[in-house]
Parts: sequence; C-alpha cells; structure tokens
Amino acid sequence: MAYDYDLFVIGAGSGGVRASRMSARAGARVGVAESTYLGGTCVNVGCVPKKLFVYGAHFAEEFEDAAGFGWQVGERQFHWPTLRDNKTKEIERLNGIYENLLNGAGVTIHRGHARFVDAHTLEVDGTRVTADRILIASGSRPFRLDVPGAEHTITSNEAFYLPEFPGHATVIGGGYIAVEFAGIFNGLGADTHLLYRGPLFLRGFDSGVREFVRDELVTKGIHLHFDAQVTSVSLENGRKRLHLSNGDSLLTDLVLCAIGRVPNTEGLGLENCGVALTEHGAVRVDDYFQTSVENIYAIGDVIDRMQLTPVAIAEGMCIANNLFGTGPKRSQDYSNVATAVFCQPNIGTVGVTEDEARALYPIRVFETDFRAMKHTLTGRQEHTYMKLIVRQTDDRVVGAHMVGPDAGEIIQGLAVAMKAGATKAHFDATVGIHPTAAEEFVTMREAAR
Ligand code: NDP
Repeated sequence: MAYDYDLFVIGAGSGGVRASRMSARAGARVGVAESTYLGGTCVNVGCVPKKLFVYGAHFAEEFEDAAGFGWQVGERQFHWPTLRDNKTKEIERLNGIYENLLNGAGVTIHRGHARFVDAHTLEVDGTRVTADRILIASGSRPFRLDVPGAEHTITSNEAFYLPEFPGHATVIGGGYIAVEFAGIFNGLGADTHLLYRGPLFLRGFDSGVREFVRDELVTKGIHLHFDAQVTSVSLENGRKRLHLSNGDSLLTDLVLCAIGRVPNTEGLGLENCGVALTEHGAVRVDDYFQTSVENIYAIGDVIDRMQLTPVAIAEGMCIANNLFGTGPKRSQDYSNVATAVFCQPNIGTVGVTEDEARALYPIRVFETDFRAMKHTLTGRQEHTYMKLIVRQTDDRVVGAHMVGPDAGEIIQGLAVAMKAGATKAHFDATVGIHPTAAEEFVTMREAAR
C-alpha cells in the first residue's frame, strides 16, 4: 500500500524535530504533527526560558558583588514584564527557526493534534494521513498535587507567563524544577520557600551535592522546609494558604508544583493501534525504540527514560539512522550522561554517585570545598564543591560532581574524558588552567576517603 509518508512524527519537540529532519535528510518523506508550539517543552516552557530567567535572577548578586571591585551601582529595580516579554520574544524567534529547519529539510508540518485511527493511519484535526512508520514523540507535561485546592497552584508551564511577579513564592518539590525555580524566584526578589516531602531534596544526586546545595540555598535566603507534606490549599484574601500534615500552614502569593512530569499519552488513540504502556504510563519501547506495534516507535519524555532534551535528540538520531540510514542499527547508551541543574550555584554531574559506586566496587573519593577567587573581593560567602569518584580496581574516574558557578560548563568537558575512559592518572597528568575553579578537578591529590 502506498502511504502518504514514510515517517510521521507526533510532536515537534526536541526529539521529534531531530528525528524528522534527519529522516528527511536521508530521503524519507516525513510529516510531523504539533498541536501547540514548535520546539516542544525545552524551547517554550523548559530549558531555554528557564535559563534566561536564571541569568536574570543572577544579576541580583552581580550588582552586590560589583561593589567590592569598585563599582557603585545605583538603585536597583526589577521589572518582571520586561524579562517575561523579552523572553517570550526570544522564544517566538526560536519557534520560527524550528519552522524553518523543518521546512528546509522538506518536512511537512501539520498544525493539530494527532490521533491514531489504526497502526498506519492518523487523524490530525480532522484530516487523515497515512504513514509506513509512525514515531510518538509527544513529550510530557507537569502535574499538580492531588489535594483539595490544587487548582490554586500553578506548574512550570504557567510560571513562564505570570501576569505579576509574586512578593512571596512557594515551590513544592525537590527535583530539578523545584530548586531551579526557587533560585529564580529568590534571585528576582520574592521571599521564597521550598517545601519538600522528604528529609533532603535532590534525591538521586550525590549526597555531598545534596547537602552542599541545601546549605548554599539557605545562605542565599531561601527558606527550606523538609519533611513537609501539603494536605490542602485554600484562598485567603487573594493569597494562598498551604496546609501541612504537621498542622503548620504557610501564607503565600504563588504556589508552584514542581513534582514531576507525566508522559503525554492521553488522547493519542493508542488503544486503536495497541501500543502498550509501562506501569508508569509511559510508552514501552525496546532498545531500538520500537513499541509493541512493529511500525510504531517512540522517543523522548513519552518513554520516560531520561527526561532530558539532549537525550531525546540522541534518541531521535538513533531512529533516523535505524529507519533510513545506511549505518548499523544503533541503540542509545545512557551511561555517563552529564546533566546540570541550574539552581544557584549550579549543579553539574556525570557518572555514579558515591553511594552508588560504593555499593558496586571499592572506590577512592576526592573532594574539595573552596571559596571562588572572585569572592575574595566581593565578600560573598558562596562556596564551590567538587567531588571525583575513582574505581580502585582500574583507576577509572566513574563520577564527577560539582556545585558552583558554571558547573554545567565545566562538567561537560569531564563527561568527554569519562566517555573516553579517563583514569585518575590522566586527571593528575593534566596541567590545570590557572586561575580557574575547573583546575581543582586536576589538582586533587589526596583522597578524602
Ligand atoms: P523530578 O522528578 O526531578 O522531581 C520531582 C520532585 O517532586 C521530587 O523531589 C519528588 O520527591 C517530588 N514529588 C513527586 N511527587 C510528589 C508528590 N505527590 N508530592 C510532593 N512531592 C512530590 O521532577 P521535576 O518536575 O523537577 O522535573 C521533571 C524532569 O524534567 C526532571 O526529572 C528532569 O529530567 C527534567 N528537567 C531537567 C532539567 C535540566 O536538565 N536542568 C531542568 C528541569 C527539568 P521524591 O524525591 O521524594 O520522589
């Protein structure tokens, strides 16, 4: 049977766009459906606008720090609509770039929601299209607490478009989005509280990193509430009152739920083609991103392996290669994927945590905690933390963790070294760049443990 397309992609986010473009470049006839904005979460309500807000928030400290270097900075005032609207303009520019990229690659864009009719047929807002293969790259969305009054809270989606900036902001959660937005709200001038349900946030990160970030956020004036369970939210004179399980309550202007993201599988008509889901509601795929239906594939947040843009892009490259490329079939290697959390100071991390490593093999741990040179003149008490985890049996560096300015930038280079199998001896033989914070990674000589 002749299909309209060789590949039809549901979702023009990071993964979907990459898979579409690369497949079209390889000669496939490709269509993509997008019901909201081109570029997906990352470009529109994720990584990109978040990073712009983080830059904006950091100016507060830069102004203060300038004094030690002789700069007299006049009265400071933050104007939220300027930041919000400049950010939106930039996002719109990026939407246009994504459109051009798809058009330039010969991909046909269908504006609308795609729904399976059968394994080869989709309906996109009333129009039927057929495809030999179909790729589900529909992403994920944030969800709110399941408590009475949750409708008075927002998610990160709305945080990017707030009509007014809050004087008092409360973030619920203890993952990436929670600590990043706590830093944004705090830096931009809100009295900021973070409520986490467990004893220490950032579960899954190295314990040294978690404790260090806790201390740094407190130093910066963020109010951390651990073991805090929200049981309901009520309205009080236009403000929100959070009721906690221990009987306490907190009155605030804005409540951001940053408690995770769920795969976008609803409304896709998956039941019409028999695509199976995991117990967590993600699309189940094999090592080559094939679903339970032979001609249907899935990548990115909707398969819920690693909800990271560069991972979705890498998965999209695999799909294009495997379906239309000439090279050998590829699966994605998820080891040593570096990530950064743009809280302030940033976290950069790659490889295993100390606890994970210790459970697997004997290790040596190298650790340092110092005050960056810049702060000798600013007087700021902010510290930087670094940790290297070395497997004793072969001297391989298996984990690198940092909390400090530009941690993401620094860890990216270490991720390359670790992918290449660098040993501690390689780190020791590397001459540092002086004076930088990064040089500490090649000058740690004495194991702490
Ligand atoms: P995360 O999964 O990172 O964190 C969710 C947090 O919410 C955890 O602290 C979790 O606690 C808590 N939580 C979950 N359910 C509840 C609940 N019912 N009540 C109270 N607390 C709850 O999710 P995020 O929303 O922060 O981010 C989603 C994903 O997006 C991230 O995992 C990451 O992959 C990606 N992302 C990446 C960024 C980056 O690369 N810089 C930036 C932002 C997002 P517990 O630990 O106890 O389970």
